[in-house]
Amino acid sequence: MGEFELIESFFWRRPGQGPRRAVVGNGDDCAVIAPAPGMQLAVSTDTMVEGRHFLSTVDPARLGHKALAVNLSDLAACGAQPLAFTLALTLPRVDEAWLSALARGLLDLADEHECELIGGDTTAGPLSIGITVMGEVPPGQALLRSGAQPGDDLWVSGHPGEARLALEAFRGTLHPGLSGEAFEATRLAMEAPDPRVALGLGLRGVATAAIDISDGLLGDLGHILRRSRVGATVALDALPVSPWLASRSVAEQQDCILAGGDDYELLFTAPAAQRPAVAALADSLGLLLSRIGRIEADPGLRVRSTGLDEVQAGPLVPNRWVSFDHFRG
Ligand code: ADP
Ligand code: MG
Repeated sequence: MGEFELIESFFWRRPGQGPRRAVVGNGDDCAVIAPAPGMQLAVSTDTMVEGRHFLSTVDPARLGHKALAVNLSDLAACGAQPLAFTLALTLPRVDEAWLSALARGLLDLADEHECELIGGDTTAGPLSIGITVMGEVPPGQALLRSGAQPGDDLWVSGHPGEARLALEAFRGTLHPGLSGEAFEATRLAMEAPDPRVALGLGLRGVATAAIDISDGLLGDLGHILRRSRVGATVALDALPVSPWLASRSVAEQQDCILAGGDDYELLFTAPAAQRPAVAALADSLGLLLSRIGRIEADPGLRVRSTGLDEVQAGPLVPNRWVSFDHFRG
């Protein structure tokens, strides 16, 4: 199967299949897209490399899902509505069954979010999947990392930490290991995360700052703090503990939640006056939103055992959770 046949059979949609948002779609020298009049374009790129971001044995449908999910997660963190994406695929060989599963996982998630595949590039080489995603957002309404204010609440969606628990199970570092059920459930979080697009849209006008958690909760919180020139306190007893983490040691729970990474949950700040709006969002989305700390004028990050609201906060805990770093081995 040649390059063009491959692209056409796996990555081009027939008329009526999938969303049509581009003026000129896949198959020309450029795709041409137009955001709705007056909207701004939000653009982000993420690449996944075999051995670094995924295991060679991963189910290709889940791999396709995740490659797009991590990109949609960036749009979610900006409060942008997905529009379209391009796909840069580097393949060591053409395995038709594998490619068809990859395309299915990718395009199913794309269709779910009405995000059209409008072009790409296909080359031979070590396996990697690069995606550039485009979304639209009303002028000035994009959620940024830089808007957190002293006094804001700090919130997180879902159950961060599950993906890391699964990764450690794969690595064989867990003693005792996970039950079959816990392994399958946490593995789903790791291999097929659900990008929080609807939450991001709902947070427009509610959140003051947002980021999606890819490198670990505290590490990514650090990006908000630096960009917003503020500090924060996080309360350990306010962290949402996934049912799959609940039976692990407290240290393991905290390590996975605070420094696990690969979560693709949203971490966001909002004024206390927005608590009812955040609660209403949690309700309407059926998504857990937990208030885990507060933003303070005093720079730096403080972790306390207890005391989200109390005047008498619990003792400070040494911060042993360094953000995962791709270049630190
Ligand atoms: P060019 O040589 O002009 O860069 P290519 O030959 O690389 O174009 O690709 C031909 C068409 O197929 C283009 O419209 C391109 O966007 C599209 N395309 C290439 N690879 C992919 C892919 N992996 N997924 C979707 N579309 C692709
Ligand atoms: Mg090309």
